[in-house]
Formats: sequence, C-alpha cells, structure tokens
Amino acid sequence: MQNQQVLTKNQKIVLDIIEKSSQPLKAYSILFDVKKRGINAPLQVYRALDKLVEIGKIHKIESRNSFIACKNSKCQITKATVFSICENCEDVKEIHDHKLSEHLKHYKDNKGMKYSKYNLEFFGLCKRCIKN
Ligand SMILES: [Zn+2]
Ligand SMILES: [Zn+2]
Repeated sequence: MQNQQVLTKNQKIVLDIIEKSSQPLKAYSILFDVKKRGINAPLQVYRALDKLVEIGKIHKIESRNSFIACKNSKCQITKATVFSICENCEDVKEIHDHKLSEHLKHYKDNKGMKYSKYNLEFFGLCKRCIKN
C-alpha cells in the first residue's frame, strides 16, 4: 500500500506543521515555521509540499493557495477532493458526501473526455456565520 510510504525528515516536519494547524496554511507561513525547525531552503519545503499533495497526505486549496491536512484516508485512492469554504470566516472543511462522490465518479460529459480526478470547492457561509 502506498499509504505506508515512508516520509523523509523534511516531509514529516512539513506535514506535522500542517496537521497541527486548524486552518489551511499558506506556503509562506509554512516556510516561516519550518525555519524554526532547521529547514532554511524554500525549495526543500516546496518539494515536500508537492510530494505530500501527490501522496494525498495534504491537499491544496486552490482558491486560497494554501494547504490543509487530509482527514480522509481514501482521498489518495479516489483522487477526489471536495471542500467547503466559508467566505466570511475562511473556515475550510473537507467534505465527504457519499452520494456526491458516487455521482461524480460516474460523471461524463458529451465530449468523450475521461476524467481521472477532481477537486471541488464550495463557497458559502458556515453555520456560525449564518447565526451572527
Ligand atoms: Zn482528503
Ligand atoms: Zn464562517
């Protein structure tokens, strides 16, 4: 299983920082944090980020250009990610909706394109922000 992939020291440090954050982190704030742990080369950090995204340990929130730890071990296998983003407080959550993923898994358009992955972002207001 690829899940058992051994992480390098740099990848572990970067993953640890992202996992400990409750919100998605921008690359520059990850760079800032890893410095304290002895990684000074941005290139090493970007490489670690790329690899972690590739193996599904973290996801990139494209619209926010930031990174979040994966909360669902299946993402790597399904190559499918869905996020809900609150436009008011910037709260980001990974969504796991079986119905939605089943629907999208079999999604076809009439252009004959065969899809291999998707990355969706839904925008709106979270429960807390609706109340206030
Ligand atoms: Zn995930
Ligand atoms: Zn909110």
